[in-house]
Amino acid sequence: MSTTKNIAILGAGESGVGAAVLAKKQGFSVFVSDFGKIKEKYKAVLEAEKIEWEEGTHTFDRVLGATEIVKSPGIPDTVEIVKQAQEKSIPVISEIEFAGRYTNATLIGITGSNGKTTTTMLTYHILKKAGLNVGVAGNVGDSFAYQVATKDYEYYVLELSSFQLDGIKDFRTDVSILLNITPDHLDRYEYKFENYIDSKFRITMNQTEEDVFIFCKDDEAISTILPNKKIRAKQIPFSIKELLEEGAYLNSNEEIVFNHINHPQTMSIHDLALNGKHNIYNSMAAGIASKVLDLRKEIVRESLTDFQNVAHRLEHICYVNGIEFINDSKATNVNAVWYALESINKPIVWIAGGVDKGNDYEELLELVKHKVKALVCMGVDNSKLVEAFGDVVDVYETSSAREAVKLSYKLASKEELVLLSPACASFDLYDNYEERGLEFRKAVREL
Ligand code: ADP
Repeated sequence: MSTTKNIAILGAGESGVGAAVLAKKQGFSVFVSDFGKIKEKYKAVLEAEKIEWEEGTHTFDRVLGATEIVKSPGIPDTVEIVKQAQEKSIPVISEIEFAGRYTNATLIGITGSNGKTTTTMLTYHILKKAGLNVGVAGNVGDSFAYQVATKDYEYYVLELSSFQLDGIKDFRTDVSILLNITPDHLDRYEYKFENYIDSKFRITMNQTEEDVFIFCKDDEAISTILPNKKIRAKQIPFSIKELLEEGAYLNSNEEIVFNHINHPQTMSIHDLALNGKHNIYNSMAAGIASKVLDLRKEIVRESLTDFQNVAHRLEHICYVNGIEFINDSKATNVNAVWYALESINKPIVWIAGGVDKGNDYEELLELVKHKVKALVCMGVDNSKLVEAFGDVVDVYETSSAREAVKLSYKLASKEELVLLSPACASFDLYDNYEERGLEFRKAVREL
């Protein structure tokens, strides 16, 4: 590697600005380039750190003069500047790769198509309760790089998206968790599911025999691909379908059994803070990670019991005249909706819709037929939903959360439930899933 420590950062969001601050601290000459507009709060950080930046353009000469480029996960490899960097053999890495070089902390990395944030926050909750000096990074709070630059944590729980994993080279976690793999983001993977699966498995590619790889044995994609992968880490599976000699499984008394992992332990699923089958998986994964770190049984039990769920994930809002309202705005793909519908045992008025990412609704048909009383679509173009479910349930069309909530309230009766679980991205009507969830919550409160 060249000795001119000269780094360019593409994208000035949370991860890019964090990487810039860390690079500056490490003595690099840093240049930040964002093709869009940089948020004021990030400009202020760059200014305060005296880091050079540009927005609304990429100055190719400047960026391609760097010895290494840190790219934000949101920027695809197909944009011109990244293609040219690759042609010139300039390494393009993710913020996670960069930050990982400058910390000796024990790293717990979590990936999967769904459940990353929930499991990350749950694991963090357990570690914190156990009194460890722990930071959390990913979708919430400050970036990993920013924390490495400014904090001194001994442990990190990291939520890792496939885009972050695509940009790693040597990054290694001590404990990694692979929750599930179902089709998502295929537009970034040449519409090939196998490419996306490979991306997720990168979480274990640099792990050694000293490390641990925790994975869901019930997941079809994971168990099909696993035998073809050379995995050096110790493997610990979890399952709700089979009994395992080592790992976490569900016994016939509806208890999770953590078997042969430091201090074996059982725990009733009825004591878990998080409801639904998907959350049994998430609790198992977080529990195994905690046991690998040798945390006390009582701490694991207590934390899995008193965890407060993250907003917008099957979040109970309130009852209005006996009708329950649930905000699952973060359900941006079909699989997340499947688990939402599966976990509910009341007639459902289901609000869905938004920007379709190439959804195949087939796997929802049975559940919808049996559990959904009416489907209220909420999006600019609802035609795919109407077509998929028009034959099995009454379908209504609206074009905002407010309208959808009002109509759903009319359609639902006492003892029934209104669920926002969109299966789609939110960009047609809202900036992001949080704004969509907040609008839903507001509309419900105003009923
Ligand atoms: P991610 O960070 O991977 O997007 P979240 O924890 O934010 O995951 O949850 C996203 C959506 O997926 C929510 O609707 C949530 O209820 C659902 N979900 C959570 N865990 C799982 C899981 N293990 N399998 C399937 N769906 C899940």
